[in-house]
Amino acid sequence: MLAGVSLTGVVSGETEPLNLVLPTVNDALFRGGGAEFYQYIERDYKGEKSTPWEGGQYGFVRNPIETAAGIVYTRFHEGIDIRPLQRDASGEPLDSVRAIAAGVVVHTNPVPGYSNYGKYVVVEHRWDGCNYYSLYGHLSAITVRAGQRVQQRDQLGVMGHTGEGLNQARAHVHLELNLMLSRQFEAWHDTLFKNDPNHHGRYNGINLMGLDIARLYLALRKQPSLTIPEFLAEEETFYRVTIPASRHFDLLKFYPWLLAQKTEAAPVSWEVSFNRAGVPLKIEPSAKPVSEPQLSYVKKSSVDPSYLTRDQVTGRGESAHLTDSGKRLMRLLIFPD
Ligand SMILES: [Zn+2]
Repeated sequence: MLAGVSLTGVVSGETEPLNLVLPTVNDALFRGGGAEFYQYIERDYKGEKSTPWEGGQYGFVRNPIETAAGIVYTRFHEGIDIRPLQRDASGEPLDSVRAIAAGVVVHTNPVPGYSNYGKYVVVEHRWDGCNYYSLYGHLSAITVRAGQRVQQRDQLGVMGHTGEGLNQARAHVHLELNLMLSRQFEAWHDTLFKNDPNHHGRYNGINLMGLDIARLYLALRKQPSLTIPEFLAEEETFYRVTIPASRHFDLLKFYPWLLAQKTEAAPVSWEVSFNRAGVPLKIEPSAKPVSEPQLSYVKKSSVDPSYLTRDQVTGRGESAHLTDSGKRLMRLLIFPD
């Protein structure tokens, strides 16, 4: 059964193997992706306008700047933009947007102005005992409620172009698959961003770290038994941050597989490894006393790492350090300590 809401009655908290389908009928990702699959972006590079589909991919694909080391794409895109296959006579997209896997709808945002994602839905999935979050953005309509259990391919809504900087021609679904950083997100946000109301509880995009979902779809085709920890083991560590030990360190509770080695005694601090996108890859106990999150490693690069890390790390060599934005985000990991 493809359409409509799912029947309830499935035991909550059950754990399932990782098994993903695409959220719409557009499956060109499996035939090379490209302009058939990805929605283009509107680029203005030094006055030269273009519409590259590459900007719809996951990763550092937007806002090119010229550096001594060549062109660097500085703006990170945390998901993939899938273009519609069906439109009505007036050009409105008609594609149904469906759950990529079974789970529970944990958040719906019906007010476009509340988020850059416009109208969006978040579904919580449980794989190998851990929770992951798929996010579907820019919808024109939402057809589920928070708390509702959905099966894979159940409809969540209809593709649209709600949210910032979109128009009808560029309608698409923005799809992410995320790890969650902290249960304390709302308190952290209310403390640090007093003038910017959060309408999304802990399902705000800032608290959700998107992994390379296109690479994951393709990797699962090759190896259907693949798990998220195995998938992330292939990602490159770009920087490491040492953070004070804290009972609020939810990341370790959410994803115990991040712990590289079992520890007997409680460590004084933890060292967390991140890829360029800020996705946590590994957590190790550390004996280094720190009073606040501190950069302990950044990969050597020919340009300032702020361009390569979503502005979380800046400076090179001895002077490399977390930016203010990097410090704030790392504080979220142990907030309110
Ligand atoms: Zn997008």
